[in-house]
Amino acid sequence: MKCDICGQKVEQTFLKKLVGTYVKDKKGKRHPVCMNCQSSMSMEDIKKKL
Ligand SMILES: [Zn+2]
Repeated sequence: MKCDICGQKVEQTFLKKLVGTYVKDKKGKRHPVCMNCQSSMSMEDIKKKL
């Protein structure tokens, strides 16, 4: 799975939990976002880039 912002691989834990988060766009589609992008950008900026 790849981060939809930076394109880097997003790791998953053994419980299939994303090391990062999912962000929903306006249409309700879920996009994987890595922890780096999540911590370096506000949620608003991330949504603009989706
Ligand atoms: Zn990223």
